[in-house]
Amino acid sequence: MLTIRDLTKTYANGVRALDGISLDIPRGMFGLLGPNGAGKSSLMRTLATLQEADAGSATLEGADGRPIDVLRDKDTVRRQLGYLPQDFGVYPKVSAEDLLEHFAVLKGLTQRKQRREVVDGLLHQVNLWAARKQKLGTFSGGMRQRFGIAQALLGDPRLVIVDEPTAGLDPEERNRFLNLLAEIGENVAVILSTHIVEDVTDLCPTMAIVNKGKVLLTGEPNAAIAAVANQVWRKQVTKASLASYETRYIVLSTRLVAGQPVIHVFSQDRPEEGFEPVAPDLEDVYFERLRHHSRVAA
Ligand code: ADP
Repeated sequence: MLTIRDLTKTYANGVRALDGISLDIPRGMFGLLGPNGAGKSSLMRTLATLQEADAGSATLEGADGRPIDVLRDKDTVRRQLGYLPQDFGVYPKVSAEDLLEHFAVLKGLTQRKQRREVVDGLLHQVNLWAARKQKLGTFSGGMRQRFGIAQALLGDPRLVIVDEPTAGLDPEERNRFLNLLAEIGENVAVILSTHIVEDVTDLCPTMAIVNKGKVLLTGEPNAAIAAVANQVWRKQVTKASLASYETRYIVLSTRLVAGQPVIHVFSQDRPEEGFEPVAPDLEDVYFERLRHHSRVAA
């Protein structure tokens, strides 16, 4: 549905934020996972036609089946695009209903009756109907993000881009928000950029791991997890010995369990006495790819 090929971008300060990104993004939820500074926002902003790439292409399959050149045909893309930026600001003194109505006018919904129907429908969809008269300044983080999704859905987009939407949400708000995205993903392509592994595990059928402007892995989370089966080991170690494990092995993660570090190590064979095999999860995959990439790049 969205095809990205060899996208590159170097900022004026010399930072290469996109270093040959190629991705195939189907309908449904697509997780774009990477640490801070990986280039996620740069990619999202480029796809949202808010900044230019230096080279490469991005092609969106239009509603009529015809390809749209995302980098050049900006007006056409904008009509089929919904975007929730990382720093979505709202007017605190305006009610949810009034601001959504205002955005709807900007989106070209000029017929009053039709606009009312769309606005009311969206307020129901994102579960803000009861709070519609409330000023946005009184909204919780989760309510604000759901309002952000409502404005992104104006105009029936085929592609919805949400940049780090769960940062700062408490677990209940986060779940509610992700469930809302999953519902939307049944009809359109939703790109969810995040540094939180569970956001992807829980609901993205396809994903990519990115860092330093490159795609380190793309595909289905389950396939990526299966690819590291029997190669992740765990051991409880002492704090004093931690540094020595880190020099001898590929330590994927360290977690304190009852005050004692428990490490996950990536290795074809059992590293040494005391290590037990664990069923890997997406977090192991994520850290393995990041470690692998930094070793190769070093
Ligand atoms: P992410 O969203 O994954 O955190 P970004 O796309 O925001 O990553 O940033 C990628 C890299 O590009 C970082 O090193 C960041 O500092 C740099 N960067 C982002 N925006 C700009 C900009 N406008 N000018 C210069 N450097 C930038």
